[in-house]
Amino acid sequence: MTGVAPSDPKPPVGVDPTRASIARVYDAALNGKDNYEIDREVLRQVSEVAPEVNDLATDNRSFLIRACRFLAGQTDLTQYLDCGSGLPTAENTHQVVQRINPDTAVVYVDNDPVVLAHGRALLEENEHTHFSAADIFNPPEVLEDEVVCKHLDWTQPIVLLQVGTLHHYTGEHNPADVMQQYIDALPSGSYVAISHFLDPQNQYSEVARKMEEVFLHSPMGSGSFRTMAELQEMFCELEMIDPGLTLCADWWPDGPHLKPLNQVQHCIAGGIARKP
Ligand code: SAM
Repeated sequence: MTGVAPSDPKPPVGVDPTRASIARVYDAALNGKDNYEIDREVLRQVSEVAPEVNDLATDNRSFLIRACRFLAGQTDLTQYLDCGSGLPTAENTHQVVQRINPDTAVVYVDNDPVVLAHGRALLEENEHTHFSAADIFNPPEVLEDEVVCKHLDWTQPIVLLQVGTLHHYTGEHNPADVMQQYIDALPSGSYVAISHFLDPQNQYSEVARKMEEVFLHSPMGSGSFRTMAELQEMFCELEMIDPGLTLCADWWPDGPHLKPLNQVQHCIAGGIARKP
């Protein structure tokens, strides 16, 4: 069934609940409440080929939190540009990094109307946290954006987050070209974190390609699974930080894996790199 279920909250003005959105599908996969029936329908379709589909989102979000904790704790950078922030959830970038350095500036960028309608207020929680509605796949628009320019000092190193975003790029360029434009603009000493749906080119390749097929033809219409080599290309000439590009579940996990990873957990990878 598609459309608005009786239990669905009333959509904010201007939001079309008959079209799935990346931010809301992701929210649904994280067990959030800011989603509609059409968004949950996307996940139901994917779960027919990969019942553990929600773990794509869970592993991605856990990577984001660990990456932020690492960057805030191990570098002295106090400026973050979070591209594709998503809807506010249990723990958000500014909460993780400002817990370690309270003066850290975080600029979130997201163009989803629900994120704009009520996520923005929750994310702009304090004077160091800001929000812009620019298009993250149009680097000049982000780099020239008023909020981004006002709150980030581009003469000093910046952390750029592209976590769970680039697999939704449907433009004509290679996503590595999009990243190259950001990386060219970053000062030396900056860090870049990327996570992305993975075709692991092994026994899990088949499930990756099946999920991709469903995502691309679903009401969400995006979600490309790329190879490790294609993901590595997105870091351009940067120096990878140990352990390099790995499955999100394997990137400095919080502890040992006590149970084997399921098939979906082999289909999302991430890493962090530094601009020399
Ligand atoms: N980065 C968060 C994380 O990893 O937990 C959220 C990832 S969510 C899967 C992707 C986000 O990117 C969504 O909130 C979506 O609205 C946003 N997004 C997608 N395309 C965008 C675009 N062209 N410009 C701005 N935001 C975009």
